[in-house]
Amino acid sequence: MPTLKVHNIVFRHEDLFELQLERGDVNFEPGACLALFNDDGDSRPYSISAGTQENILRFLIRRVPNGRVSHWLALRKPGDTVEASDPFGWFRPGRSTPTGERCVFIATGTGIAPFLSHLRSNSAQPPEMCLYGIRRLADAFALDELEQLNGFRLAVSKTSGHSHFHGRVSGLLGQVPLDEEIHYYLCGLDTMIEETCQWLEASGIEYTHIHREIFFYEDGQD
Ligand SMILES: Cc1cc2nc3c(=O)[nH]c(=O)nc-3n(C[C@H](O)[C@H](O)[C@H](O)COP(=O)(O)OP(=O)(O)OC[C@H]3O[C@@H](n4cnc5c(N)ncnc54)[C@H](O)[C@@H]3O)c2cc1C
Repeated sequence: MPTLKVHNIVFRHEDLFELQLERGDVNFEPGACLALFNDDGDSRPYSISAGTQENILRFLIRRVPNGRVSHWLALRKPGDTVEASDPFGWFRPGRSTPTGERCVFIATGTGIAPFLSHLRSNSAQPPEMCLYGIRRLADAFALDELEQLNGFRLAVSKTSGHSHFHGRVSGLLGQVPLDEEIHYYLCGLDTMIEETCQWLEASGIEYTHIHREIFFYEDGQD
């Protein structure tokens, strides 16, 4: 089990941060997770948001109130160490076929992490559309990178503004290209994923072309 040194921890705000760990000899594919452990031996999975060529492993983490692992991670300092598992997981954005594929990404919150990892990796084929749903603009990660994508759309549910759609990401589904060749990757909140799956299936998309990774459950949110 690797022991990884904290390179840095960068807060977006007090409950949202990027944890940067020195990579050591960890090898991973975009979409992979590591289980990170606290001092008591509790572990939780976190999705890598770094590209496969970076020396740093990046994680986008929401601090859950009283969360045993996310709160502990938020208190780490550069030079501290964190125990981690080897990379694991089956969610592979844009990689369901070995040669790449036409794909659409839909994320809420920290669910943007596996898509950033895909986009930051050299072999990345850009998605035809990437929808990113957050509550407030302060919750956004890597907007400068994402806004370079042709099909990028940002949905902000709690604040209005000229630069984004005001509402939940489901309000943008009507703009998503529908084609039997496209693979759809959904990551983040369970309710977004369920609603989007239902909409895609009702629109004639085969369930084998719908890939999902749930990070958070609406019931557990504030
Ligand atoms: C495959 C996978 C990848 C993940 N990747 C990320 C990631 O990249 N970034 C990230 O921030 N999180 C990610 N998560 C969620 C993460 O693993 C933890 O569940 C989260 O950090 C809470 O753990 P905790 O120990 O801090 O809270 P806990 O001590 O487990 O829980 C504290 C309280 O929060 C509630 N709670 C716990 N977990 C959740 C949850 N998932 N949804 C709603 N309420 C909850 C509990 O009911 C409890 O009341 C991922 C989850 C999965 C399954």
